[in-house]
Amino acid sequence: MSYSARFECFAGCGESYPLNEVVYRCKKCGSLLEVVHDVAELKKKSAEEWKKLFEDRTRKNVWPYGSGIWGKKELVCPEVDNENIVSLLEGHTNLFWAERFGHKLGLNDLWIKLCGNSHSGSFKDLGMTVLVSMVKQMIAEGKDIRAIACASTGDTSAALAAYCAAAGIRSIVFLPKNKVSIAQLIQPIANNSLVLSLDTDFDGCMKVVQEVTADQHIYLANSMNSLRIEGQKTVAFEIVQQFDWEVPDIVIIPGGNLGNVSALGKGFLMMQELGLINKLPKIVVAQAAQANPLYLSYQTGFKEFAPVTAKKTLASAIQIGNPVSVDKAIKVLKQFDGQVEEASEEELANAAAMGDKYGLFNCPHTGVALAALIKMVDRGEIKQNDKVVVVSTAHGLKFTEFKKDYHTGALKGIDNKYANLPIDLPAKTESVKKAIYDHLDNE
Ligand SMILES: *Cc1c(COP(=O)(O)O)cnc(C)c1O
Ligand SMILES: [Zn+2]
Repeated sequence: MSYSARFECFAGCGESYPLNEVVYRCKKCGSLLEVVHDVAELKKKSAEEWKKLFEDRTRKNVWPYGSGIWGKKELVCPEVDNENIVSLLEGHTNLFWAERFGHKLGLNDLWIKLCGNSHSGSFKDLGMTVLVSMVKQMIAEGKDIRAIACASTGDTSAALAAYCAAAGIRSIVFLPKNKVSIAQLIQPIANNSLVLSLDTDFDGCMKVVQEVTADQHIYLANSMNSLRIEGQKTVAFEIVQQFDWEVPDIVIIPGGNLGNVSALGKGFLMMQELGLINKLPKIVVAQAAQANPLYLSYQTGFKEFAPVTAKKTLASAIQIGNPVSVDKAIKVLKQFDGQVEEASEEELANAAAMGDKYGLFNCPHTGVALAALIKMVDRGEIKQNDKVVVVSTAHGLKFTEFKKDYHTGALKGIDNKYANLPIDLPAKTESVKKAIYDHLDNE
């Protein structure tokens, strides 16, 4: 079989380019590109054959198919040779039943897809393995690419740095000064990235990195680069595969630059096209109210869209006012009975903490998604027996400052309903016992 894919203009002006060309936008109209597969070739295998193939490969050690991404190589990126694949066996993250938390909210079928349980601690690994592999392929073919660069709200740079270090390719990351967590800052430093801390916000970094990478020797890794979307779309396949090929009713996902929701939708549409599924879920994007351009557009029925200046939010990875993938996201939402919710700082902080109290360990972005979930349940838009999946985007351990500030009451203007503080005591058994029973008896 000869599977193949290429870049095509997303606006439909007909331009197309090979995946091993250094190109991020349509050269004719400036629109984003998208990776388009030879679906006729893919359809030569039946849905049952694809399912069996994916299942046989899951978590096995036959390079590179044990990866959640490369186990679906034929429909992710068939253009890269196996010896050029840069994989840290990403994907296959756990999807777990949040039974007690769900019941507390009145839901019987609430699931959390823990995309943060990945090598660099966020879903960004899913796309970065594809992008860095394609660059390794281009270098092997003789292209003079000297480094890969990205602007980041923290997690993209962590993923880029890890995959580049594993591949032996130089990485350059542009971070907004003092706007990423310490864990996110130390990740590219540890992985030997060239770390450039710019006195601006994410949108400002994005502008500079695009200008720098106009030079073809430095490859751009932001999600306008649609290779990443191909890796990220596997999250839809995984969710359905983990439910024995059943499609959930609703998927809630936090959105910033809006690449991930585009990817989620693309994955479901591809499964439908290949006959693996015969219905689509409702997709809900959750935004921080401090950075909510998509929410505002949703209020106009997506008739209008205007970038905003993103204000400071605890959900720092989605503090984005001018999302690059907005057109793709809106197209997806229109096909998935889409909805957009927003969460205030207090709502996201309490939702994250409430989830933690029921056994989760959330990043603030997942908190935004949980806040959206809670609002929709309260309004009766999500029903008791709906099968709901919340996409958790990063590992909570990257955001310990956020949790510490929450529990110690250091978050200004936020009523920390679920605060839990350590109790200072002398090392005396009697006072310890008293403290324990005072506490248990008051519960
Ligand atoms: C990148 C990121 C997001 C947002 O994804 P987009 O594709 O930019 O919408 C959400 N949460 C976390 C933790 C992220 O790193
Ligand atoms: Zn075009």
